[in-house]
Amino acid sequence: MSKVLLLNPPNDLLCMRDYFCSKISKGAHCYHPVDFVVLSGILSAQHQLSLVDAVIERLDFKGALDAVRRCNPDVIIFLTGVVSFEDDGPFLSEVARLTNARMIGLGDVFLESPEKIFDLWHWLDAVLLDFTTDDVLRLVADQLQATKNAIVRMGDGRVVSFPIVHEKGDWALMTPLHELFLSLNYSFPFSRRNKFATVLTNFGCPYACDYCTVSRFAYKERAVEDLQLEFNKLQDLGIKEIFFKDQAFGTERKRILKICDELSNRNVPFGWTCFLRPELADPIILEKMALAGCHTIIFGVESGDEVVRSIYRREYTDRLLKDIFSLCRHFGIETVATFMMGLPGETRTSLEKTIRLAKALECDYASFNVFVPAYGTSLRRRLIADGIIPGGFMFMDSGVSRPCFSTDSLNADVVWSMRNKALAEFYARPSFLIKMILKAGSFSRLLCHLKEGWAIMMSRGSI
Ligand code: SF4
Repeated sequence: MSKVLLLNPPNDLLCMRDYFCSKISKGAHCYHPVDFVVLSGILSAQHQLSLVDAVIERLDFKGALDAVRRCNPDVIIFLTGVVSFEDDGPFLSEVARLTNARMIGLGDVFLESPEKIFDLWHWLDAVLLDFTTDDVLRLVADQLQATKNAIVRMGDGRVVSFPIVHEKGDWALMTPLHELFLSLNYSFPFSRRNKFATVLTNFGCPYACDYCTVSRFAYKERAVEDLQLEFNKLQDLGIKEIFFKDQAFGTERKRILKICDELSNRNVPFGWTCFLRPELADPIILEKMALAGCHTIIFGVESGDEVVRSIYRREYTDRLLKDIFSLCRHFGIETVATFMMGLPGETRTSLEKTIRLAKALECDYASFNVFVPAYGTSLRRRLIADGIIPGGFMFMDSGVSRPCFSTDSLNADVVWSMRNKALAEFYARPSFLIKMILKAGSFSRLLCHLKEGWAIMMSRGSI
């Protein structure tokens, strides 16, 4: 048995790194790194596990080093990401020097030219390219027979890539050690309770959008019986709120209905939030979801321009979207529409359409993100090949950073000013503000929304 430390390095900002994505929190929230949640189940059966999340604990460089030293780990599994890479290097290097622990990294930054990072970070022992398999156990034990989804620095200094095999189909997961995360102050703007858990019912995504990192993973699903065990554990821990972090909550109706049945049949109901593809949101599904405790659905609308949506294989019409959002209101489900601004192919006119649609949908919240060419995506590779963006490292964050490139049809400055216009037009409407006050339900929830809203508005800027 080894002492394994899950380490989220410190950052001055609320830096969220998980599921091969890294970003700065747009608001004041910071949710569980889902990679660590999943790994906690896989690792805890064989190893002694501890957690230092310096971001949520607001530890500085020295405070985080002290916390790591107190754990005295044999192995450290750490998160890093494109948005924090330059800050993470000096900290992790010091951690490696002081602890002499085996250092295993996870994050989006390893999805492109990882060998360059092995050259730069001479203390890096291995990289995990999938956090949902038991390959981590072999890396921790330094027993590399049959290892997959990893890159390892061998004893003789060679860096060896083991095969990437993303398994499809059924997926059984050791129930995560949710109690490890309970004492920390994670938050999620749509949670109706302070204490919540992050749960995955599936991994990967079959929709294969070319701008999305998740599309590189084969899609696999947990059996509902497997989920039952996790729900039981959450209930035992007194947790009544779930954030389903699946990139798409189910991809076929039958399974969604089965999970809803399982959730509806529990004597203590959960409240929950999930992401859902608009195509799946029919009246039967939405009613079942509402009855099963779903109070908030996040829909990836992406653009208010049907032509742009169809370029990115989102074939739903504005009419269909309006119907779905209206149905959600009918069933008492709050809605969040997420938009991507500045996708290649967009124009100023299409961004105007996005702002109009966000208001017309009457969604409860809207999230306006600047498109960034995420590491490991085919769209990024295409943009590099076409000379639109340079290869190599870039600070990129879809939430708060400015657009990093212009296209023939859209200047980066315009994208940024339209994103700020979208925020102002959506959130500063008197009708929106009145609705928010009326539906808050409690003073603490209203305070939470005001805090989030303020932080979002403060992330605006101008060029
Ligand atoms: S549907 Fe969402 S998660 Fe799936 S590939 Fe597209 S953007 Fe990614």
